Amino acid sequence: MGYNKSMLKSFSYRLYPTAEQQSLLARTFGSVRFVYNRLLEYRNKAYERRKESRNYYDCNAFLRKLKDIYPWLRDVNSQSLQMANKNLDTAFRNFFRNPGKTGYPTFKKRCARQSFQCPQNVKVDYKAATVYLPKIGWIDCVFHRRFKGDVKTVTVVLEPSGKYYVRILVENGICKAGTDRKLPTSLDDVLGIDMGVKTLAVCSDGTEYQNNRHLANSERKLKVLQRRVARKKKGSSNRKKAIKKLARCHEKIRNQRDDTIEKTTADIVNKNHVAVCVEDLNTKGMMHNHRLAKAISDASFSRFLARLEQKCIEHGTLFIKVPRFYASSKLCSNCGYIYKDLTLSEREWKCPVCNVVHDRDRNGSVNIQKKGYEMMTIPVDGGKSTPVKTNMVDDRANAPKKPNVEKAGIVLENTTQEAPCL
Ligand SMILES: [Zn+2]
Repeated sequence: MGYNKSMLKSFSYRLYPTAEQQSLLARTFGSVRFVYNRLLEYRNKAYERRKESRNYYDCNAFLRKLKDIYPWLRDVNSQSLQMANKNLDTAFRNFFRNPGKTGYPTFKKRCARQSFQCPQNVKVDYKAATVYLPKIGWIDCVFHRRFKGDVKTVTVVLEPSGKYYVRILVENGICKAGTDRKLPTSLDDVLGIDMGVKTLAVCSDGTEYQNNRHLANSERKLKVLQRRVARKKKGSSNRKKAIKKLARCHEKIRNQRDDTIEKTTADIVNKNHVAVCVEDLNTKGMMHNHRLAKAISDASFSRFLARLEQKCIEHGTLFIKVPRFYASSKLCSNCGYIYKDLTLSEREWKCPVCNVVHDRDRNGSVNIQKKGYEMMTIPVDGGKSTPVKTNMVDDRANAPKKPNVEKAGIVLENTTQEAPCL
């Protein structure tokens, strides 16, 4: 058992390209987007007209034709164009693997976030604070921290706010080995977490983490900025400026939200419990409830859970998802009575059987804690529990996909911490 799955970690650094480099980057973003969209069109048409599907290799052949028709495609890093094909292929694979959850690949828009990948020949110079990208050169970069591990992909991103970033995805082996993993021996070893709308997370030990509701706070500002964009003439440079301001506001909200998530998850993991249990929330289903949808997307539950899981793995803590339809807030954590008529607006309720007054979320977190503990143990000798070793983490979603030979073979020069390129 244990976490044998590879640990991927992403590091993001702000880039400060010169005006000249910006135009080179713009050309790469544009070409990659162009190739992606043309290949998607190629696949769509092949299906519409002849009911045929085109695979990665067909697309590669078509990409070569595109280069003959549009010679300017040869001016940019050809590997980045190749990656566009690869990414489109991945998008299709994900769609066919999980058609209900993953959407059909869509065309990339000029106004959205732009990105391209460099699979090879990226160099990092920590001392000079620069990153080398093929066909573009050394770009100023702020390394707020060093990255560790084997580099998998390097992605250059231009946010709609006008900020450039380089995102380095690394694989590192810092997760603790799973064979001698400790299992909880008492309920106190387990921390139950109830995710909520009013409070971001309530823990079974009584700690509460407030949801800062950044989006709600900035909503007025967003509305003003949105109205300003709407009032500007389409295609005008004033409209472009207004769009940029709006994008900056969105980016700030996202950063604030991520900050809350990082701090909260770090705090939870640092409590040093043997296991952390959460409810396997049906966030997609909850999104259909419009009153809840906004608050949930604001708190970005799924992102929170993903970060919590990753931090647990790094820390050597078990991460357990308690089944979704387990009625955690309706069950009295003291006597087991189920209060069927509990409504969403009821924050507190009194158990009619044992008379204990429950705070809705706190009660839920204790139930999650108990359920999680139960899942890790099997009863023997008339109720006495004994830990049992099983695979605790439901990692179907993160299950290793088909080995990606091409990706696994990526070797970057001089990008390790030990030997930055000079
Ligand atoms: Zn009760």
